Amino acid sequence: MNYEAFFTGHLDRLRDEGRYRVFAELERIVGAFPRARFHREGGPAKDVTVWCSNDYLAMGQHPVVLDAMQSAIGAQGSGAGGTRNISGTNTFHTALEQELAALHRKDAALIFTSGYVANETTLQTLGALLPGCELYSDAFNHASMIAGIRHSGAVRKIFRHNDLHHLEELLAAADPSTPKIVAFESVYSMDGDVAPIGDICDLAHRYGALTYLDEVHAVGMYGDRGAGVAERDDVLDKVDIVQGTLAKAFGVVGGYIASSAATVDFIRSCGSGFIFTTSLPPAIAAAAAASIRYVSSHPELRVRHQERAATLKRRLAAAGLPVMPSATHIVPVSVGDATLCKQASDLLMDRHDIYVQPINYPTVPRGTERLRLTPTPLHTDEHMAYLVSALQDVWQTLGLGRRAAAE
Ligand code: PMP
Repeated sequence: MNYEAFFTGHLDRLRDEGRYRVFAELERIVGAFPRARFHREGGPAKDVTVWCSNDYLAMGQHPVVLDAMQSAIGAQGSGAGGTRNISGTNTFHTALEQELAALHRKDAALIFTSGYVANETTLQTLGALLPGCELYSDAFNHASMIAGIRHSGAVRKIFRHNDLHHLEELLAAADPSTPKIVAFESVYSMDGDVAPIGDICDLAHRYGALTYLDEVHAVGMYGDRGAGVAERDDVLDKVDIVQGTLAKAFGVVGGYIASSAATVDFIRSCGSGFIFTTSLPPAIAAAAAASIRYVSSHPELRVRHQERAATLKRRLAAAGLPVMPSATHIVPVSVGDATLCKQASDLLMDRHDIYVQPINYPTVPRGTERLRLTPTPLHTDEHMAYLVSALQDVWQTLGLGRRAAAE
């Protein structure tokens, strides 16, 4: 086989379909967020406003987090020195796990190198080792859950997005004696809609299923202490296994699950993606714990974040831009075509010094391509006014106005 020809042919097809991923190279500057320096290929760098960061609360540059990270590096160095089992468990790791268990009001927690790995490892391990396990997965679940479910080899049943009736139909048709897991998210990252967590858990439990909830886009941002939508909805105890990330609202990197002592010990003891990899650097764990403590005890951050999102949605709608319905801080603006979506993103960057990455298939279904805006507490009214007028200009230039309004 001509491997090179195969690879370049495949990449050419992605380009033709407008799906070839081009990374914007950014230099984050402490104290400047949401401004950052954008490095253009072959051109001079320029300062831009970032409107698509998942550092949702700007904790990635918060002095409390940076201080914790710097002092941990000073005291303990860079890498962890091994897997958790072989010399890589550190006091910062165990302290972080205790912090996470307390946040979610669970017996125990377990950290992984990313949220992706947490989902993949946990679902793969449970699906493979629970005898005859069936995994019930929301149709919009993230790639990391899908990967874990597929790799487990367990029977996979997909229920229509947030559709309790469909889930019940599937559960009712199954053998009552088989182990089951219902896996879903709280805030869906591309549409910004929210699952009815309590109702899904009640239904799952009626059919003897465990509940597995990904709160990656909610931890830090919802609930009195930032434990997520399950806390906001007062259903923390109905979620058997909660999964989250340290990389978004907490501004660092890493993922975790929190659950009963036996469940966590089971994954700790049997999950390949936990066992056979070097643990997170101690300084990352120290920074994440500091971030969680800060975010938990500063509810005004959440209030400001929600206010910024509501204001942005109102301003976009008032300007006639096709902002999609969203119940959360995620603000998608519909374009509906991959090429136009890329052009809109390029125009925002080239003409207006605004960075918003286009969201295309397979991240969202074809025909629903969009710009996904993520306001943070540090986006000001001025940033918003400038963004709205830039979007109006782009919509007019690309002839998107009528197209979008007709949708
Ligand atoms: N779950 C969801 C819903 C996500 O959107 C993502 C990544 N954006 C992940 C899990 C993976 O989290 P991480 O970035 O920490 O790997």
